[in-house]
Amino acid sequence: MIAVIGSGIVGSLIAREINKYIEDVFIFEARNGIGTGVTKGNSGIIHGGYDDTPGSLRSELCYKGNKLYDEISQELSVEVKRVGSHVVALNEDELKAIDELEERAIQNGVKEYEILDKVELLEMEPNLNKSALKSFYCPIAGVTEPWEVAMQATKSVEINGGKVLKNKKLVEVKKKDNKFELFFEDGSSYIADLVINVAGLYADEVAKLFGDEVPYIFPVKGEYYLLGKDIKYANAVIFPTPSKLTKGCLVVPTVDGGYLAGPTAHGVKSKQDLSTTQEGLLEVREKSLRLVPTLDFSRNVIKTFAGLRPETKEKDFHIDVGGGNVIHVSGIRSPGLTAAPAIAKYVVEYLIQEKLHINLQKRKNYIGQIEKVPHLVEKDYDYWERVIQEDPDAGEMICYCNKITKKEIKEAIKNGARTLDDVKFATRASFGECQGSFCIPKILKIISEETGLKPEEVLQNEKGSWIINSEVRAI
Ligand SMILES: Cc1cc2nc3c(=O)[nH]c(=O)nc-3n(C[C@H](O)[C@H](O)[C@H](O)COP(=O)(O)OP(=O)(O)OC[C@H]3O[C@@H](n4cnc5c(N)ncnc54)[C@H](O)[C@@H]3O)c2cc1C
Repeated sequence: MIAVIGSGIVGSLIAREINKYIEDVFIFEARNGIGTGVTKGNSGIIHGGYDDTPGSLRSELCYKGNKLYDEISQELSVEVKRVGSHVVALNEDELKAIDELEERAIQNGVKEYEILDKVELLEMEPNLNKSALKSFYCPIAGVTEPWEVAMQATKSVEINGGKVLKNKKLVEVKKKDNKFELFFEDGSSYIADLVINVAGLYADEVAKLFGDEVPYIFPVKGEYYLLGKDIKYANAVIFPTPSKLTKGCLVVPTVDGGYLAGPTAHGVKSKQDLSTTQEGLLEVREKSLRLVPTLDFSRNVIKTFAGLRPETKEKDFHIDVGGGNVIHVSGIRSPGLTAAPAIAKYVVEYLIQEKLHINLQKRKNYIGQIEKVPHLVEKDYDYWERVIQEDPDAGEMICYCNKITKKEIKEAIKNGARTLDDVKFATRASFGECQGSFCIPKILKIISEETGLKPEEVLQNEKGSWIINSEVRAI
């Protein structure tokens, strides 16, 4: 058995890649949801690969990963929108950064870019600060929903005979001959022939369980605003010129038509500190308004949130074989979600096959194409008329903000969703303007009806996060 520790975008895509060769793949996830670690709280950008340090593993895997997203989108039925990105110089001082980016793009072998002058830029982005002088435009940059990629990849693993186990926190490891005995917090244990540690913020701690040292991981928080869909702010991702530390506070059009403003970048003590702060959000407002002055933070805010970057002093990905048949995939900071499909191939084709000399043969019975119930807005009226004839649930709207039907929610539950957050991230229900004020009772009821759980047993996300504690009239 091959064990993958962690169901983030990187772990789930690695498991899927291994599963193309071997059926017996297990994903062990500490939390009660798929892709709910670093993968849940980030900018969702598929970067162009032009700006990472030349010669680093990050630069190699970012550009390759970007290219692989068309295949991922098609095979996993996930949305990838190649909206492009601009790095914008707003004054003479910042123009130098555009030249430096071009230099880096050349060194990184990225050809898909253009340098746009003020007129070209403002024609493409009319809401931009009018003092913009130039942009480094990358048409292959895009956006996706990383948790959706993780969920569809884990679904693919299950369809192809693998197992995805939640609430399985790895706490102890014993070496047994050439194998590992893995012990989990719930008291269970499994024997694995090969282990891939893809534990995100905790990959350094998991490596220690195997007696290995990888670069120490410290959390760097990024705070965001999510803005609504009703005002058009930008067509592409808008970056400021980068600092030595970060790509800066951005304006990002999301896959479903909203916008993100952020993130900040400040070190925090705890790997669980996902709080937003007054200072952090003020910083986001100031910096993003400098790029797009029309951003409406008084009436158009849907929510604020934060994510934690798994940073290391080395600043590069650390992906290598440990002591025995274990591979540590650690330090997967940005652009980790862009690089994820390429990291998966690097692990399987280079580390497993070449470095560990494990000979793998592609499976003949592997199912590559994974379907998904389409969102209402993705299909036309005729399509829905036909589908509703067959299944009236397709005509019952549950989330009015994002137009999510009962059919989509039931399908998510059929695929393993058990909590409100599982349904939210699988379907976008309760993700919209009202943040679930109207649809949460209905979703709770559907989860209860479909799973047999009592309404008071249905959770928001992790253990103990019940919504109601006794019978209520609406449910
Ligand atoms: C603010 C911010 C912005 C970012 N923006 C971008 C961007 O725009 N583009 C981009 O390419 N990248 C971006 N990134 C980086 C990207 O989000 C990460 O590189 C990527 O999500 C890492 O995924 P992962 O699978 O390695 O980690 P995770 O998603 O954290 O997955 C690891 C999983 O392992 C589980 N786990 C941990 N310990 C154990 C254990 N002991 N046993 C079992 N399971 C365990 C965790 O619960 C978790 O689910 C950003 C990151 C942040 C924080």
